[in-house]
Amino acid sequence: MPRPASPPGTDFGIPRGDPARAAALAARCASFAPDDEDEWAADEARSCFNCRWRRWTPDSFRCLAPSPPT
Ligand code: SF4
Repeated sequence: MPRPASPPGTDFGIPRGDPARAAALAARCASFAPDDEDEWAADEARSCFNCRWRRWTPDSFRCLAPSPPT
């Protein structure tokens, strides 16, 4: 039986309830690009939670940027 394909992007393991870590990661990310403001989910403007490259998962998000931070 074939194995399911792994989902695209990078999982940084930042829970939805941790805006401080999402802001800290975005602060050092050259790929940050703000999403439309009505999609924002954090008070800090520069945050993975407000980035157009993030795709929500039930507990966190995955980053689909071509060059995510390492
Ligand atoms: S590109 Fe990825 S790591 Fe960088 S701010 Fe956006 S979601 Fe976060």
